[in-house]
Amino acid sequence: MDKINIKNLEIFCNHGLYEEENALGQKFLVSASLILDTRKAGITDSIDVSVNYASVCNFINTYMKAHTFRLLEAAAEHLALALFAHFTPLEEITLEIKKPWAPIGLSLDYVSVEITRKWHTAYIALGSNMGDKLSYLENAVEAIKTDVNCRLVKISDFVITEPYGPVEQDEFLNGCLMIRTLYSPNELLAFLQSLEAKANRTREIHWGPRTLDLDILLFDDLVMDSDTLVIPHPEMHKRSFVLTPLSQIAPNAIHPLYNVRIKDIVPED
Ligand code: ADP
Ligand code: MG
Repeated sequence: MDKINIKNLEIFCNHGLYEEENALGQKFLVSASLILDTRKAGITDSIDVSVNYASVCNFINTYMKAHTFRLLEAAAEHLALALFAHFTPLEEITLEIKKPWAPIGLSLDYVSVEITRKWHTAYIALGSNMGDKLSYLENAVEAIKTDVNCRLVKISDFVITEPYGPVEQDEFLNGCLMIRTLYSPNELLAFLQSLEAKANRTREIHWGPRTLDLDILLFDDLVMDSDTLVIPHPEMHKRSFVLTPLSQIAPNAIHPLYNVRIKDIVPED
């Protein structure tokens, strides 16, 4: 993808571990690589469909002066998040923050921290079979929608499905979401589990009734397997209550292990 580069924007501000640094301030140099599609702006010659680098520089300057972080890591992380929230066409950002006057009692050109952050595409399955099922699902959608690290792209219809597995229990309400997220897979799982916990989900009986179940189905075209997270979700291709809503919002999404489109593995009614 295309890039807009900003190199060594000089800002006098107050980040640092030491009180003196916070009080007196010092020089920082911020470099940014902004990854976005500039083709439309290139063809139309219109700034409205691009990201204005003057605005970005002013934004970075204002942000760096308005906050005081102890660590360059924190300054970079929060600045990247703020840039994504403000400049919506950005797909990926690499930020380097240099500190040429770092007070370490030795001479150096500069120390710096460089991070790269990007939007990922993920599909989430939602399910509930206890209490006010619709409210549990709607509250989860609202929480995902309002999280700064997530954007809701598509939402399927919610479908009533028969319970599965060995435990006798009430019918489910199921649905799927397509989101864009800045979270890593493990951070996304932790976020979804915090929403399950807020919905008073307890894990007493495996496969048992639940107020809210949020599973990660797909995350870009990632294939991973750790003790706590398996992507693609290991059961998704067998579950009609996942595939039916998923195929409604993403018929052409590809299961990266089986290399098939979702619409081609949805069971017929
Ligand atoms: P299930 O969703 O299979 O009914 P739980 O919601 O109780 O069961 O999840 C059990 C564990 O599954 C979680 O603690 C989580 O660590 C793990 N897990 C593995 N892969 C995934 C995934 N893709 N999405 C959500 N949870 C997952
Ligand atoms: Mg689950």
